[in-house]
Amino acid sequence: MSTITGRFAPSPSGRMHLGNAFSCLLAWLSVRSAGGRMLLRIEDLDPERCRPDYARQVEYDLRWLGLDWDEGGIDGETACCQSRRRELYAHYLDLLQGRGLLYPCFCTRGELHAASAPHASDGTPLYPGTCRDLSPEERARKAALRRPALRIRVPDREISFIDRLQGAYRENLARDCGDFILRRSDGVHAYQLAVVVDDGLAGVTQVVRGRDLLPSTPRQLWLQEVLGFPHPDYAHVPLLLSGDGRRLSKRDKDLDLGAIRASHQAPESVVGRLAFWAGLIDRPEAISARELVNGFSWDRVRREDVRLGQDSSSF
Ligand code: GLU
Repeated sequence: MSTITGRFAPSPSGRMHLGNAFSCLLAWLSVRSAGGRMLLRIEDLDPERCRPDYARQVEYDLRWLGLDWDEGGIDGETACCQSRRRELYAHYLDLLQGRGLLYPCFCTRGELHAASAPHASDGTPLYPGTCRDLSPEERARKAALRRPALRIRVPDREISFIDRLQGAYRENLARDCGDFILRRSDGVHAYQLAVVVDDGLAGVTQVVRGRDLLPSTPRQLWLQEVLGFPHPDYAHVPLLLSGDGRRLSKRDKDLDLGAIRASHQAPESVVGRLAFWAGLIDRPEAISARELVNGFSWDRVRREDVRLGQDSSSF
């Protein structure tokens, strides 16, 4: 029996870009080199941003790159889509509610951004606790005017862990993160809740994802503890930055898999460049994902972000 279960967890809000492909390649190599099991979870919680045809494109692009999975995806018997798991998330919210950890929050985004509060480690304003201790009467009065979000009370406690690439990371939840949202005011469950429930129920033992999600990890470790799920290992991989130093996003159309495939490049040439940027090969030569499996080692993977120069922006 394999000891490692990893996952791809794309948000189907557009075509995959090279940065997504870079994280997926490393997640896949880590699992395949250990003979592990790979899941594909479609993170389509946000109905305004996610579309099933984008999810199918993600699958098509992953397969084209030579990255396969054993379970999950949008179709078929083992499909795993967050949009179809709302009852599960509601169940875990009820558990947290039963322990008195949740409270309704009526603050608007505008109010939170206007308050000159300090910022949390992920750059969002630190929640000042406005709705934490409202009286039942105040709650009822506010509820008549606005549908609340649900927040979780975080403890004044430090959470630390060792990331395989980024090393030791620690955060005090109250000071660096603040009470965070588990269900938005429009009823959509939050990423932090869904990811913990899904990784926990699927027995995920290894999470490989972009370094931008590092500040989410202490929250997830704490939620795992509260809900009784084991902690996976984490590897937060470097980000690909555009020539001007910005993180690649789905708006960088020229670096998405659609544009790359339309330019008739072979998948091996794309994989070769990703592997070179990761530090796995010495030159950006064409190579298949499968050929990289045997020599894969986390010790070779670079830790610093990769800035794409002139040559790579004309990828
Ligand atoms: N769905 C997230 C993304 O596409 C990844 C979440 C995760 O790996 O935990 O950025």
